[in-house]
Amino acid sequence: MDRQELIDQLVEKISGVTDIVVVPHHNPDGDALGSALGLSGALKAMGKSVKVVSPNGFADFLAWMTDAAEVISYEQKPELARRYTANAQMIIMVDFNGLSRVRGMQSLLENSKAFRIMIDHHPDPEDAADIMISDPEVSSTCELVYSVLKGAGWNHYLSKELAECIYAGIMTDTGSLSYNSSRPETYHVVAELVERGIDKDKVHHLVFHSNSFSRMRLLGHSLGQKMVLIPECKAAYISLSTDELKRFDFKPGDTEGIVNYPLSIDGVNISALFTEKDDFVKISFRSRGSFPVNKFSEAHFNGGGHMNAAGGESKLSLAEAIRQFETLLPEFIANLESHS
Ligand code: 5GP
Ligand code: MN
Repeated sequence: MDRQELIDQLVEKISGVTDIVVVPHHNPDGDALGSALGLSGALKAMGKSVKVVSPNGFADFLAWMTDAAEVISYEQKPELARRYTANAQMIIMVDFNGLSRVRGMQSLLENSKAFRIMIDHHPDPEDAADIMISDPEVSSTCELVYSVLKGAGWNHYLSKELAECIYAGIMTDTGSLSYNSSRPETYHVVAELVERGIDKDKVHHLVFHSNSFSRMRLLGHSLGQKMVLIPECKAAYISLSTDELKRFDFKPGDTEGIVNYPLSIDGVNISALFTEKDDFVKISFRSRGSFPVNKFSEAHFNGGGHMNAAGGESKLSLAEAIRQFETLLPEFIANLESHS
């Protein structure tokens, strides 16, 4: 079914519901939160009763987004999150392709009787919704949400503030239009957002230039002391222990983007960041070119994502997870090469 047919179905379905819950993925990034808030704001402007229920909180650098303060975090307010989810007539899932991406909220979504819609741009989506608007070609879920609103004839509900949420998601998922942004459509959407009067420079400042002093020192430490090269794999990785994070006064969002830096080394095409959490190790992967970090993460680190940007986790210790990575990466590369 083509996108417009799916949008037409969605329009018809939404006309019959009032209570809607919009859900981004766990650890919502700029694209997940921007699409959730942009979409929910437009639906509210249409007169719907809409709540954004997130599996957990989000980083401070996203707190400027309109209505961000009203987002319900399941981790902080599980009962409230449960109540809204249970009573919703429709649940719209944004920026994730499988129910496990909402972690602890998974059973809430599975048990809900609500009509489910998924709007997402990750490859290989699970069949987890009644209407799936999934397009791995688009830069971001925010771009897709804009296209859906436009296709539904609802883009006039996007205020300047909501358009800024959408713009922020496109910027964060494309590294300010440096990757995942080779389709002309992305620029048409950006142009239309600019026509809506967004303060583009303000959004860039809020998202990319509001680092704390300690976050900049953590970045310096990561690059100066913790970056390890694996030249034979054209790879580099950084690891951060809980002690180090404490030393640099870690706040959620502080490690965001650190994984991209090693890729700017000439000759490095694969990058990983290991972040030690209380009971697991979170791993972020990035690549340039054709190395599929999502497949690597799926195969070995219980994760997934896009070909050039993926995440996963390990229950091993930090040192063991790194050792596993160092062993598995050359094997995976050799295997890819033998099949190409
Ligand atoms: P990040 O490294 O910024 O956390 O995530 C990069 C990309 O991988 C995002 O598109 C995100 O949705 C996806 N991703 C991150 N962690 C996981 C995970 O644990 N499982 C899956 N399936 N995808 C992930
Ligand atoms: Mn995204």
